[in-house]
Amino acid sequence: MRYAVISDIHSNLEALRAVLMDSSSFKVDNFICAGDIVGYAASPKECIAAVRSVCPKILIAGNHDYGVIELLDLEYFNERSRNAVLWTKGVLSQDDLDYLKTFVLLREEAKFTIVHGSLDNPGKFHYIFGRGDAYETVELMKTPVCFVGHSHVAEIFHFRENKMTRSTGPKIKIEYEDKYVINAGSIGQPRDGDPRASYAVYDDEEGTVEIRRVEYDIKAAQRKIMDAGLPLWLASRLAEGR
Ligand code: ZN
Repeated sequence: MRYAVISDIHSNLEALRAVLMDSSSFKVDNFICAGDIVGYAASPKECIAAVRSVCPKILIAGNHDYGVIELLDLEYFNERSRNAVLWTKGVLSQDDLDYLKTFVLLREEAKFTIVHGSLDNPGKFHYIFGRGDAYETVELMKTPVCFVGHSHVAEIFHFRENKMTRSTGPKIKIEYEDKYVINAGSIGQPRDGDPRASYAVYDDEEGTVEIRRVEYDIKAAQRKIMDAGLPLWLASRLAEGR
């Protein structure tokens, strides 16, 4: 099976569309979504509809998804993010909210696991920011690969013979006796200095993961954010990839 691994879309429809277009050249069989379809940008409804249309069977919740359906306390968020959650909640339909309510925190498949934050207490949405954090998840992994999101940084942690290395790919070969914590990066709000949308293509038979960066119409996404009356910083950061 070949999968497109998508994460942290954050209501950015322009970025999501560009990624779906790019992934179509890889003939993917299915999608893996590592959470946070909504929050921050101006098109939460459209992003939910687009994700539903590619129908990832393997889908988990991010903190923003759970924030809007009140499965995560708003205390978790800083003030700016909380406002984004509340705005998003106000524009979604009951059907959208019901869809988000079907999301679980963790999925374990035969060859891979997905969680939004980290494997130690998925409901707390801890960040994996470095090799130490990645190791805490490696210790809990029952599969060779764990896909995560949340930090909006595309990176791959590789654990082999008691040693953890970090890379940004872009393409790796999976050794199934090793362990990999893979962040496909953020589609809708990258924070690793590269403003292009980020996702990954995972082929479980070939045993490869490739992180892809895709140009999209950033100005159009910014315009929608401003037209919706959302804070300016949500628009400006898209051009910086921060
Ligand atoms: Zn996120």
